[in-house]
Amino acid sequence: MTLASMKDMLERAKRERYAVGQFNINGLCWVHAILDAAQEEESPVIVAASDRLIDYLGGYRLVSALVRTLVEEKGMTVPVALHLDHGKKVESCLRAIDAGFTSVMYDGSHDPIDVNIRDTKTVVDYAAPHGVSVEAEVGTVGGMEDGLIGGINYADLGECVRIVEETGIDALAAALGSVHGKYLGEPKLGFAEMEAISRSVGIPLVLHGASGIPTDQLRRAIELGHAKININTECVTVWTEQLRRTLAEDAETTEPRKILTPSRDAIKAAVVAKMREFGSSGRAAVVAESLDAQAR
Ligand code: 13P
Repeated sequence: MTLASMKDMLERAKRERYAVGQFNINGLCWVHAILDAAQEEESPVIVAASDRLIDYLGGYRLVSALVRTLVEEKGMTVPVALHLDHGKKVESCLRAIDAGFTSVMYDGSHDPIDVNIRDTKTVVDYAAPHGVSVEAEVGTVGGMEDGLIGGINYADLGECVRIVEETGIDALAAALGSVHGKYLGEPKLGFAEMEAISRSVGIPLVLHGASGIPTDQLRRAIELGHAKININTECVTVWTEQLRRTLAEDAETTEPRKILTPSRDAIKAAVVAKMREFGSSGRAAVVAESLDAQAR
C-alpha cells in the first residue's frame, strides 16, 4: 500500500467514532515498531516526524524515503500517512511536501490569528494539488511545543471557525488543556469548549499531548469529534525504561541489536495498546478499500 493522506482516514474515523493514532518517530526503531504494530492490529496509522527533530532524523527526504521503503519492504497492507508534526515555518511544510510527506501540520499558533490564517492558507494552497492533508493549530498546548516551554492557552471558538472556513484545512488542533510531556496531576480538558468548537467547525479535531490522559477522557474527546490523537511521551518513556533495564541486566554486552530490540518491542506494545484504546484496531481494511476506490 502506498502512503496516504490523512483526510479520508480522519473523516471516516470521526464518522465511526474512533481515532487514528499519530505516533512520533525518534529514530529507526520507532518506525519499525509503529509500522509492525499497525500491521498486526490491522489499524490505519499516522507516522509523524516533528519538525523540531528533522535535522537529527536526517532531513525530510531521508525520513520520507525511510518510511516509504519500510512500508514497501514490510509488504504493509494497512493505510499509513507520513505527517510533519508542528511544522515551524511555511517553508518547512513545503519542503516536507516536496520530499513526499503525505500530510503536514503548520503550527502558526504562536502568531496572531490573522498571520496564522494567512500562512496556513499558503500551506493549504501548496498541499492541495499534491493530495497532501493539512492540520493547523489554534491556542497553545502546554508543556514543550516546538522546543518552547509554554503554558496552556485555550483555543478561541471564533478563531477556530475562521481558520477552518478561510483556509480549507483538513484537521484542527484546538488546544483545550492538554500538555506535551508528563502531566503534573490529573489532566483537565475543556470538554464544554471542545463540544462547542467541534459542532461549529465540523472537521476532525486533533488531540495533542495525549500521553497520560486517562481512557475515559480520551473516549469523551473522541465522542466530541477528535479523530486523531498524538502520542510521543508514552513511547519514549517505555523505550527508555526498557533500555535502562536491559543495560542493568547485562552490563557486559556491546551488541546494539541485543540492547535495542527489547526497547523496540516495548514501543510496539505501547502502540498496540493505544490503537486498541483509540478503537482503530481492525479498521484498516475498510479505510484501505475506500482509498483504493478513490485511486481507481
Ligand atoms: P505527548 O508527548 O504528550 O504524547 O504529545 C505528543 C504530541 O502531541 C505530538 O505533537
